[in-house]
Amino acid sequence: MRAMLLKGPNQPFELVHMPDPVAGPGEAVARVLACGSGLTIQHLKAGRRTAAFPLVLGHEITAEIVEVGSGVSGLAVGDAVTAYYYLNCGHCRYCLSGHEPLCSEGGGNIGRNCDGGYAEYIKLPAHLFLRLPPGLDHRKHPAQIGVVTDALATPYKVLRRARVKAGETVAVFGAGGGLGIHQIMFAKWAHARVIAVDVAADKFDACREAGADEVIDARDGRVAEALLDLTRGEGVDVAVDYVSATATLEAGARALARRGRLVTLGAAGQPFNLSSTDILLKEQEILGSRYVTRSEILETLDLVARREVWPLVSVIRPLEDAEAVHDLVERGAVIGRAALLI
Ligand SMILES: [Zn+2]
Repeated sequence: MRAMLLKGPNQPFELVHMPDPVAGPGEAVARVLACGSGLTIQHLKAGRRTAAFPLVLGHEITAEIVEVGSGVSGLAVGDAVTAYYYLNCGHCRYCLSGHEPLCSEGGGNIGRNCDGGYAEYIKLPAHLFLRLPPGLDHRKHPAQIGVVTDALATPYKVLRRARVKAGETVAVFGAGGGLGIHQIMFAKWAHARVIAVDVAADKFDACREAGADEVIDARDGRVAEALLDLTRGEGVDVAVDYVSATATLEAGARALARRGRLVTLGAAGQPFNLSSTDILLKEQEILGSRYVTRSEILETLDLVARREVWPLVSVIRPLEDAEAVHDLVERGAVIGRAALLI
């Protein structure tokens, strides 16, 4: 099969021929139609996160099952599928209680600790393939459907994690990014008022089109003050931080209303200072939100099938263009998501 191989961090992709994968017991092989190209995997390419090189990147796939190994049930040749990003065990107390990203036996991620979707075929433990619901034309929209498993499902889960209610105000930090823009969409879908915060002014129009009621240019600093101004001093009910740098986390915390919730899931992962007095007197909550459960992916796919939300994939290129696409991702030049057609 053709595959886009990465031999190490900070190296260019190489288009290579690799043996077609063969399904062992409990495994399945799928033909990949499309794979999303987000910042998560660019962090691997750029060496900002560790990975098991040499490696085929990519986890946001639309695919069709072509082979099913022995002992696999619930999956058949021809099924249209996407994939669960985490190589979770499916048996530990966290997997069994609907917290699969916290799996205590977890083996990492697709496209990080095993080969992923930048290839004609992908082999995975069969339970990581998720069948697409009816109503999704996966051959017509493979790029859009592929990114649902992360770029849409992750912000969908945040609505639950932060218990976003209709009429509440939600601030999204890093709103112009691939997850942030879909967080705007989902917060609007949940009937919240949405304030987008970003440093990329060229993405503000896209934020408004995705549903943002207001946009704050974070290059001006004073983001907390701007959020308080826009809420008549009350503060925002929910701040979702897709950057999670010290400055964004502290701005989000300072702009939080009574009973406010701050959700952190940005890659920067920096430490920050909080006022324990504010948390006490205002009964605030600080929450981490780590990826999603499989059922949350199925729910998100159903919402996409009903067109209640629709993925924003603005760059769709063939596999051969992976290097150019990742250059765009690295420069923050993609509105929404980019994806490769295989
Ligand atoms: Zn587990």
